Amino acid sequence: MSTYKGRALGSLGDFGCYSFHETKNYSMGEGGAILISDKKYSDHAEIIREKGTNRVQFHRGEVDKYTWVELGSSYLPSELNAAYLYAELENAQKIFDNRMASWNAYRERLQPLADAGDLQLPYIPAECTHNAHMFYLKVADLKTRTALIAHLVKNDILAVFHYVPLHSAPAGKRFGRFNGEDRYTTSESDRLLRLPMFYGLKLEDLEFVCSKVREFFGK
Ligand SMILES: *Cc1c(COP(=O)(O)O)cnc(C)c1O
Repeated sequence: MSTYKGRALGSLGDFGCYSFHETKNYSMGEGGAILISDKKYSDHAEIIREKGTNRVQFHRGEVDKYTWVELGSSYLPSELNAAYLYAELENAQKIFDNRMASWNAYRERLQPLADAGDLQLPYIPAECTHNAHMFYLKVADLKTRTALIAHLVKNDILAVFHYVPLHSAPAGKRFGRFNGEDRYTTSESDRLLRLPMFYGLKLEDLEFVCSKVREFFGK
């Protein structure tokens, strides 16, 4: 439920992936979906997710027995997971509206701190619409962020940093490389802090969070 130049995310390329991990707007605990733009890849995808078998074709009556035809694994969600997701998707607009109201409330209440230069708020490019997945702040540096997290935690507010650059991870160092000069990646990652954001976040709790952020900056 977010767009780039008017097109829904997930529909831009040949393949699109959605995550329904527990941290996402619409969840099934663990799981996801792949969107395939060209039908010719669908049969193949069905085989890969069914352990490399043509079981789906068998169930459709297209083959008389099912067998192993490709590499694959067990990528299917259970029906219990799917039922949980289905209920969330039926309520997708309601979930979206609720998160967006929280997102907008955060932005409105924290705008004065941004105007005063204490922090930066999320920036949404004109060609994009977002789905209020997260609300983050960017503060001056790592030291400020560490102190702000401590201040929030002291007030029973769970605030987390996010996205440690992949190239700095042990596996990233082994298998990857940084392309170009690291002018922004590490420093932006050090400055970023996420505020509580979930369906059903109460406005009074959101206002409490904002008041503690203001307090941290002496306002
Ligand atoms: C989205 C997300 C995951 C799961 O992603 P998948 O693509 O479903 O594997 C795990 N951890 C965090 C913090 C995430 O944001």
